[in-house]
Amino acid sequence: MHVCIIGGGVIGVAAAWQLAQRGAQVSLVEARRQVAELTSHANGGQLSYSYVAPLAEPGVLPHLPAWLLRRDSPLRFRPRLDPLQWRWGLAFLRACNARQAAASTAQMLGLAALSRATLQAWMRDLPLEFHHVENGKLIVYRHAGPLGKARAQVQLQAGLGGARQQVLSVDACVALEPALAPVAAALAGGLYTPSEASGDCRTFTQSLFGHWVARSGQSAWMATRAVGFRREGRRVRALRLDDGREIEADQFVVAGGLGSRDLLRRLGYAPLLYGLKGYSLTVPGAAGCAPAISVTDYERRTVYVRLGDRLRVSAMVGMGLKGLAPEPDRIAQLRREASAFVPRADFGHAEAWAGQRPATPHGRPLVGRCPGMDNVWLNTGHGALGFTLACGSAHLLDTLMAGEPPAIDPAPFAPR
Ligand SMILES: Cc1cc2nc3c(=O)[nH]c(=O)nc-3n(C[C@H](O)[C@H](O)[C@H](O)COP(=O)(O)OP(=O)(O)OC[C@H]3O[C@@H](n4cnc5c(N)ncnc54)[C@H](O)[C@@H]3O)c2cc1C
Repeated sequence: MHVCIIGGGVIGVAAAWQLAQRGAQVSLVEARRQVAELTSHANGGQLSYSYVAPLAEPGVLPHLPAWLLRRDSPLRFRPRLDPLQWRWGLAFLRACNARQAAASTAQMLGLAALSRATLQAWMRDLPLEFHHVENGKLIVYRHAGPLGKARAQVQLQAGLGGARQQVLSVDACVALEPALAPVAAALAGGLYTPSEASGDCRTFTQSLFGHWVARSGQSAWMATRAVGFRREGRRVRALRLDDGREIEADQFVVAGGLGSRDLLRRLGYAPLLYGLKGYSLTVPGAAGCAPAISVTDYERRTVYVRLGDRLRVSAMVGMGLKGLAPEPDRIAQLRREASAFVPRADFGHAEAWAGQRPATPHGRPLVGRCPGMDNVWLNTGHGALGFTLACGSAHLLDTLMAGEPPAIDPAPFAPR
């Protein structure tokens, strides 16, 4: 079987690896010169297997006015004369109900668990170098209110058989992560989840890509944009490329992140995918002062992670903020907050980056067959969790394409 995958981000490369393991001949098409150059480039580095709740939940509604009006809010909304923005926004608001949020969380926990198991299986076979550490995640709270809610949530999740979690005093937080000492006075406590992991998404994608090329002997179509399809009824016969060439294949997988939408429209399918802009700063040579475990500053919604000797700080959600250029005021704000949190790190030399999370309104990725087509598949819409869910999504896609019973219920992820 010859499979053509469009997209060389973490999602497309993970799918290429998984499908090649089964013996498929895989062609990977990527518009950029290298893999992981877009959203998978400098993200937060979290393998957040236990923190997969969608952004759309009833708790966000009371916060929306303040988030939308305050200049320094972690969420920024710029209204546009863009029907997609309003359709996406309305669908998001409709998804902000307790029943749907609880169902999505349970479904995402299943996909995340599959992702962890799949990654572990790959790592037994492959020397993947991506600064992967499994030393947990510590969320610190500045106020007693949210800490109390976190305590209640821990009890609820423990009853549901969720990951082991501990609520910690400020002293216990600092004992666990001494890099927090400078901000201890501002904290109310923390929540530690020992089973969480982290790593560098870009290096992971590059490393996996290198192993795929080496083992399969296949090469990717880099710096090549897919522009359309040659189609016969419900089947695509070939992918059309920007240089006029075509790739014929038996099956096609659209894993182009936010770019998936434009391509799928050519098949008459327009999924609700919208870019939620986020930012990161990467400080080189910060091993001596960066937290050793992943730390989230809850009230600022900012994540700190050590990747080898670098410190990566990522934060913020912007809706309607077009393009990939990091806005100077957002970067200045992130620099200020991060400098106060890790005062010994040299943020003057930090590399600033922005990416557009390819998000669905309900927060679940789209993994499954393209509506109206027999041999086109989707693997996209992973929003804020693409690194976490990449290996599980590849596993799910592979079993669906092979017609085998998948490890988890595929219905919540099916494109409609
Ligand atoms: C600030 C920030 C922090 C984040 N932190 C985390 C985190 O801590 N943990 C986590 O799990 N996730 C995180 N994410 C989300 C994660 O980065 C994304 O979900 C993930 O990178 C999406 O991967 P992708 O492969 O779908 O998309 P991309 O990485 O964008 O890859 C899609 C690729 O398809 C290519 N493409 C598109 N259209 C075409 C075409 N027509 N022809 C050829 N090629 C095409 C593009 O060039 C691109 O390389 C974060 C995102 C941001 C922005």
